[in-house]
Amino acid sequence: MALINEHFLKLPGSYLFSEIAKRVKTYKEAHPEAQVISLGIGDVTQALAPAVIEAMHKAVEEMSDSKTMRGYAPDFGYSFLIDAIIENDFKSRGIHLDPDEVFVSDGAKSDTGNIGDILSPENIVAVTDPVYPVYLDTNAMAGRAGYFKDGQWNNIVYLPCTSTNNFIPEIITKSVDVVYLCYPNNPTGTTLTKEQLKKWVDYALEKKVLLMFDAAYEAFITEDEVPHSIYEIEGAKQVAIEFRSFSKTAGFTGVRCGYTVVPKELTALDKAGREHTLNLLWRRRQSTKFNGTAYIVQRAAEATYSPEGKKQIRETINYYMQNAKMIKEALNSAGFETYGGVNAPYIWIKTPEGVSSWDFFDYLLNNHQVVCTPGVGFGKSGEGFVRMTAFGKREDTIEALRRIKDGRN
Ligand SMILES: *Cc1c(COP(=O)(O)O)cnc(C)c1O
Repeated sequence: MALINEHFLKLPGSYLFSEIAKRVKTYKEAHPEAQVISLGIGDVTQALAPAVIEAMHKAVEEMSDSKTMRGYAPDFGYSFLIDAIIENDFKSRGIHLDPDEVFVSDGAKSDTGNIGDILSPENIVAVTDPVYPVYLDTNAMAGRAGYFKDGQWNNIVYLPCTSTNNFIPEIITKSVDVVYLCYPNNPTGTTLTKEQLKKWVDYALEKKVLLMFDAAYEAFITEDEVPHSIYEIEGAKQVAIEFRSFSKTAGFTGVRCGYTVVPKELTALDKAGREHTLNLLWRRRQSTKFNGTAYIVQRAAEATYSPEGKKQIRETINYYMQNAKMIKEALNSAGFETYGGVNAPYIWIKTPEGVSSWDFFDYLLNNHQVVCTPGVGFGKSGEGFVRMTAFGKREDTIEALRRIKDGRN
């Protein structure tokens, strides 16, 4: 008889987005005429850049001829894409990477979830709170999280990020082995400056802690002092893995492409205390369990780095960030306390005094037919906040804000 991985039984249901869907459905059934606007789920709404579409069409044509068709892609990515990534995302910021330190994939969710394969189940893991749920659930599946009780995992170290500490997690005094950092942050939209991130790198160097740095939103950074890559900080290559994605940068949520950087200097220990290169372990893992990202998709990703591609994706990012600015300004002028929205497409909104995340969610749905995401769904410290996304269509965003500001429907 086959036995299951019992760690799966400890996982709480994926409550957040199913509960949102349920409440929206109930509301719509009771109010069939209502025009409900969603600023909830963080998916993009704008078309792919013309340069990307053109590159995809061209790649499809190549597939139609046996002389130019491509079969299995290299496990770690075509060199045309890896070279473009290194040149544009790193060299331009003074970071040197070798091609074999970049691993092209089908996105950052898979990579942030799969990276645990190369690590011992005995590692103690720390995450910020609130947090992108993938880091927690994948560690739970591997048996690193313990038991879920009262909204938290007993073996996970939580780093509260609230308005009290300006959403900057405090350096950990307990002994941990792995820390996940996501900046610019989903869900709070906040960032760390170079100086603040340097504290984490220095800490990791001193305590020999592995940092998992999720930079899925780096393209939305507008302020100079905010680092785009953790490798802008000296010494980071010895302690950090960085995850990137074309999903938010170039609207690839349905196309699927991302990449992970595992520097060759980065090591971790076996039980006997011997050092091992994580780059080699990840290489082994990917070549066994992953068979490469589609050629057509990699050509599409490459096109985001052409002069036209860069210009076009920048226009779309600016469109979203204009939404972010409008959301933030409208809510501030309506008397709400807001965070984020300057270097990230998310606005983190403090609910009125004494109103819970879910009560405020219900209030916005019932009174303004606007859907947000309750902050508590991302962790205990998210209670008393909701998240709004700037990824909506402009006209929907304007209409939602008008309703909230006017206090009418
Ligand atoms: C959207 C998102 C990603 C990207 O996921 P993909 O699988 O590349 O689409 C990664 N990390 C965070 C925190 C995200 O919000």
